[in-house]
Amino acid sequence: MNYHQYYQTDVINGPGTRATLFVSGCEHQCRGCYNQSTWNPCSGHLFDEQMQQRIIDDLNDNRIKRRGLSLSGGDPLFPANVAAILALVKQVIEQCPAKDIWLWTGYRLEELSAEQQAVVDLVNVVVDGKFEQELADPSLVFRGSSNQTIHYLR
Ligand code: SF4
Repeated sequence: MNYHQYYQTDVINGPGTRATLFVSGCEHQCRGCYNQSTWNPCSGHLFDEQMQQRIIDDLNDNRIKRRGLSLSGGDPLFPANVAAILALVKQVIEQCPAKDIWLWTGYRLEELSAEQQAVVDLVNVVVDGKFEQELADPSLVFRGSSNQTIHYLR
């Protein structure tokens, strides 16, 4: 898996102060996508063990109280990303148990593969659905268009 950006400290993508990872790779091609440079899964930088450990260290760094981790992109559930995202999510749950995990995906929950579902089974909140330009609404919180749904799962 590759990633485009990592925000060590982020107050936009999800509630509270967070760490946010924008992964590479997305097949949805939403019209009006704000992040087209992330579509190519080979773009960006390699997400390696050091990067994963950096996220764990940031979440456990009590000098800045981060509420959790946000996973966006691109699409964290792009099929080629799922194994790496699952490993990251499992490590966060194990080593940062007080933190929550939010995940944004262009897939709808009802169309997930078993592999994608295994990730969703572990995260706290999923915001699902493609970005629909006709339904875009800047007043929405944590989503770009009104067809997208915030699912509070656990
Ligand atoms: S799911 Fe997100 S990143 Fe992918 S095309 Fe749609 S808006 Fe862009």
